[in-house]
This record gives sequence, structure tokens and C-alpha cells, in this order.
Amino acid sequence: MINSSTYLYCVLGSPVKHSKSPLIHNKAFSDNRINAVYLAFEPRDIGQAVQSIRTLGIRGASVTLPFKEEVMKYLDWIDEEALAMGAVNTLVQEDGQLKGYNTDSKAAVNPLRAFGIKNKTVCIIGAGGAAKAVAYGISKRQGRLIIANRTHQKGRDLADRFQGQFIPLDKLSTLEADIVINTTPLGMEPHLEEIPFPGQGLKSGMVVMDAVYTPLNTRLISTAREKGCQTVDGLSMFVAQGAAQFKLWTGIEPDLETLRRIVLENG
Ligand code: NAP
Repeated sequence: MINSSTYLYCVLGSPVKHSKSPLIHNKAFSDNRINAVYLAFEPRDIGQAVQSIRTLGIRGASVTLPFKEEVMKYLDWIDEEALAMGAVNTLVQEDGQLKGYNTDSKAAVNPLRAFGIKNKTVCIIGAGGAAKAVAYGISKRQGRLIIANRTHQKGRDLADRFQGQFIPLDKLSTLEADIVINTTPLGMEPHLEEIPFPGQGLKSGMVVMDAVYTPLNTRLISTAREKGCQTVDGLSMFVAQGAAQFKLWTGIEPDLETLRRIVLENG
């Protein structure tokens, strides 16, 4: 029951109304009998939103597009891995300090470990916040990193940061990669019909992962399946990054299958 002792957690993003984070966190709070609620906010100014978190004593927050990088300058302390990635997706307020973490990297890389990452050629499409976290995880596990991005300089900067190689998007069809990971919004509204990696470049035996999870079956995932690739959908990453946030806030590790089911049941 919500009462005057209920703690508030939230997600800060823009746009954020499509976010499934309130579903998974409210389910986890309720299953674990924690008196807390989780809401979605679309702030105009991330600096002011962070100030509100301090003033109102909000216990923790998820940070999503487009604030993962900008939010860093308003925090008291940032975890070493999040600093290396250059992006924060989780805020924790404790002992009067606002701390920043990033749970995207392990969440993206863990489902890929079964296929092996060391010495594999891994192509990340995109160079934004999600790409930074994934590139960090791949480079830490000694994958051979290739970054493809619409804005060349941003792609080159990310490739240089993790000793990878940059290629323009129009060279993807001839790329020989073991693992392909989409971190652009292509495949979700309003780009539902778009595919970030050309279908003719997808070959049987490749592993294809999409960070987009609405819809679950993106055009990239369905085309990859038709071509005989192994696929990892964006919901695996989404529930894993959310579960890691919940653990940072409460010390409790929620069940990934339960979180996945609540998202699937609520479309
Ligand atoms: P971001 O920081 O804004 O980066 C977006 C990237 O996509 C940029 O590299 C951008 O290229 C590229 N891009 C955008 N529109 C494009 C277009 N029309 N054609 C080609 N490239 C385009 O966003 P983000 O935080 O990294 O998130 C990216 C996606 O990953 C979102 O769809 C988000 O929902 C998803 N995501 C999923 C999870 C999960 O848990 N499953 C976690 C994080 C993010 P430029 O550099 O040229 O602008």
C-alpha cells in the first residue's frame, strides 16, 4: 500500500512513455514486499531533474536516452566501469551522495558469452550511450571490435577509445563478422521497417543481437533467423540491466524470467 513511508524510484528519459522499466521494477518491489514505487519522468533539463532527486530524497533512478552521458557531470561519485564507458544508466542516493553506475555493459555481454567473445570479430552498429557500454564489455573480453555509425567522427572516436576499427554503414554488406550488435533505434517506432545491417550480409553461423526490444521481433532479428543466424533479442539485455539496477538499490537479485514474463504479458 502506498503511504507516507513509501520510497520513490524513477526513470529519467525523453521520450520515456514507451519504457517498460516501471513494469519490471514495480513487479520486483511488490514481489519482494518493498514499500516503494517506480515512476517515469520526462524532464526538460537533466541537471534540474538530478537536483530534484537530491531535494526529494528519491532513492534511485534509471537514466535513459538521451541523458546517459550528460547526467555524469551532476553526480558526486561515478563507478570506475561507468567512467571507462563514458555513460551512466543508474543513480543510487545513499549517505547523502548521488552515485552513478552502468548496468548495460554486463547485461548486453552476458547473453553473448555462451557463443564466445575472445578473438571474435564483433561489429557494433551505433556509437551512442548503449554502444559505449557494449563496446566496453566486448573490448574487456578481448573481442575484435568494429564500430559502424552514421556520424563517422563519433564512430571513429568510439573505435579509437577501445582500440577498434571504424567502418561506414555502407560497407556493412561486405563485412565478415562473427557477432553483430545493433545499438541504433532502427527497428523500433518510427523505424519499424528499417534494418541496421543489410540482409544480404547476414550469414548462417553469425550471432545477431538487437538492443531494441520494442518490438521483440525486429526486422533485424527476423531476417537473421531466416538466414540461419543465432539471435539474441533486446529483452534479454533489458531485463538483465534492470535486474542489476534493482540489486544496486535493494541488494536483492530479482528473477530474470519473472521480469521477462511481466514485459511480454503487458505488451
Ligand atoms: P543514443 O545515445 O541516442 O545513440 C543512438 C545511436 O544510433 C547513434 O549512434 C546514432 O547515430 C544512431 N542512429 C540514430 N538514428 C539513426 C538512424 N536513423 N540511422 C542510423 N543510425 C541512427 O541512444 P542509446 O542510448 O545508445 O540507445 C540506442 C538504442 O538502444 C535505443 O533504441 C534504445 O532503446 C536501445 N537500448 C536498449 C537497451 C536494452 O536494455 N535492451 C539498453 C540501452 C539502449 P549518430 O551518431 O549518427 O547520431
